[in-house]
Amino acid sequence: MGTERAGGAACDALSWLDDVERERQAAGLRRELRPRGVADPLIDLASNDYLGLVRHPRVLAGAMDALNRWGSGATGSRLVTGTTSDHEMLERELAEFVGAESGLVFASGYAANLGAVTALSGRGSLIVSDAGCHASLVDACRLSRARVVVAPHTDVESVARALSERTEERALVLTDSVFSADGDLAPLLELHRVCREHRAVLLVDEAHAIGVRGRGGRGLVEEVGLAGAPDIVVTATLSKSLASQGGVVLGSAKVRAHLVDAARTFIFDTGLAPAAVGAARAALSVLIREPERVTAVLDRARKLARITGSDEPSSAVVPVILGDPDVALAAATACRERGLHVGCFRPPSVPYGTSRLRLTARATIDADEMSRIESILSEVLSDRMVAAPA
Ligand code: PMP
Repeated sequence: MGTERAGGAACDALSWLDDVERERQAAGLRRELRPRGVADPLIDLASNDYLGLVRHPRVLAGAMDALNRWGSGATGSRLVTGTTSDHEMLERELAEFVGAESGLVFASGYAANLGAVTALSGRGSLIVSDAGCHASLVDACRLSRARVVVAPHTDVESVARALSERTEERALVLTDSVFSADGDLAPLLELHRVCREHRAVLLVDEAHAIGVRGRGGRGLVEEVGLAGAPDIVVTATLSKSLASQGGVVLGSAKVRAHLVDAARTFIFDTGLAPAAVGAARAALSVLIREPERVTAVLDRARKLARITGSDEPSSAVVPVILGDPDVALAAATACRERGLHVGCFRPPSVPYGTSRLRLTARATIDADEMSRIESILSEVLSDRMVAAPA
């Protein structure tokens, strides 16, 4: 009976959730979790496994080996028991790969962004952030206690203006290199020039660029010739091209040392699980040995863009903008019913009126798969053209 009373009270306090849910339902913005089955026959155009490495035997062996040597968990925070020699090797290998002086691994890309941004800003400093930055950078701004200016998407002039008009001594400019919703690129060279001119640090999130852009997948910073620049800090996830979990901050040794002392998501979070470290190391070594996977991703993205009539892609991300969230959801459902798993992005992940299918290319899509993809997408999208309101 006590339990019942306790349950009833909790229900009452949360009754506002019913209204919120009704509003979401009416706006076509409710989300549903759909667990995948192990033997799921769907063709994957939704995941971030860009290089097709998530079941690669060497990657699985790397995870297993680390699991056997270190056990199932990191056992503590990085500064206590959560740093193994494998963590440090991964950090060195990733830094060497992108041409940075050093690296620091976090439990996720989200944590890497929160940790790097908050430790490199703070009260009395300025952050200028691109309007298209990933949610983790947006949240990092909110946590930072810095003054935050959101610059219009890829608008370098606005960034320069915000930097030049500032009264704060310290400034940090944030951008994704490949933007996650549209797959477009940041004007990194121009941003870096403006940062140099105004003594600002440039933080670049390369989550969608590692394994996709740059020589052998070294990222867009490398591609534009800025690898190793001391005033650039790169963040990345290990969960996309590197087929694992975790995140990393890559930059100068001075930045790394500061993050070890000051990044709260590094200090207070449990270290990355050894199996994830082992998988990421193995995936990186496959990527280095098989750079043809990198060219294959962009090739598959171009084919997807041709099928859907989308703009020439700059990354693995191919957006098919449908506008209305219900239309986008219906199209994604129709694809699924025909055996194709596509992403469906609706607000707040993307601006209102730009709900979309989000296709992600994978290096391992073969000709057979591509022709099945073509027939499914053509059918679903032509249906949509007929059904969509004028
Ligand atoms: N940055 C970008 C641009 C991302 O797309 C993501 C993940 N989707 C993250 C950061 C967060 O990385 P993680 O999933 O490893 O937390």
